[in-house]
Amino acid sequence: MNCLDFLRTSIAKKELPTYVYGYPSKRAYRVFPQPLRITDVVEQASRSKHINIYIHIPFCRYRCTYCTLFLTTRQNPATGESYVARLAEHIARYGEYFGDREVVSIYFGSGTPTLLTQHQFRELFAALEAAFPKRSRKREITVESAPDTFDNNLLDCLKAFGVNRMSMGIQTMVPGELAHSGRPYSVETAEAGIKALTERFSHVNLDLIYGLRGQTRDSWNFSLGRALDYESQTLSLYPVVVRPMTNIMTSKAHAPELFFSDADKYEVYDQNVALMASKGYR
Ligand code: SF4
Repeated sequence: MNCLDFLRTSIAKKELPTYVYGYPSKRAYRVFPQPLRITDVVEQASRSKHINIYIHIPFCRYRCTYCTLFLTTRQNPATGESYVARLAEHIARYGEYFGDREVVSIYFGSGTPTLLTQHQFRELFAALEAAFPKRSRKREITVESAPDTFDNNLLDCLKAFGVNRMSMGIQTMVPGELAHSGRPYSVETAEAGIKALTERFSHVNLDLIYGLRGQTRDSWNFSLGRALDYESQTLSLYPVVVRPMTNIMTSKAHAPELFFSDADKYEVYDQNVALMASKGYR
């Protein structure tokens, strides 16, 4: 069975046994009764005068042990250049249909968009400017990042392009937990990254994960407390999800006692909500 037939069969059976997460999520995919032209889709699309643009950058230096997002760790300069050139073509194509709408947000996600070079970001922003010239005064432009993938020059360049919100996965402030999550940099690198972002951008989001291998209630509270010290505008606190075909699944199968149970995660969730509210977060 080829890949397309496999996908069709899996959709028809309402199952996708091998799990790779993408955007839109797998639940959004369905078989169309008949092929659709893009002009038909545009006709049926919302009549809103506004548009939100999501740009997927599927490159990472490493795959974290829990991650099932749609990405590759085999980026090289040629694939990066080629991908950005195709993206610019897509942006121009969509601009033909939606370019008269006012852009309220642009989001670079996936993946680790800060693996792109300044030159590649310049190319993408130029394509966006040409295809979607109308911009809301309150537009939000976000770039996702990882602590070991940017320097100050890149951040300054992003700011000059109009980026006003940065998001970064931190996950934990404990060295052993960081290593078990598959991230090969130090806590000091993470802290330097947070500092560089919060010094430059008025809106910073930090992601943390609870339920990592070896994590305890105390070590989670420690990580959360350290992250709160930076007073970022948003903190996203995720329970780890152990999905098929991940390193964390193998790890949990061998040593389940090193992981929070689901009941533990519910309790930690409630504690997080209470703590965040007490710190003024909504
Ligand atoms: S850096 Fe983010 S997107 Fe990349 S593998 Fe890790 S969690 Fe997934």
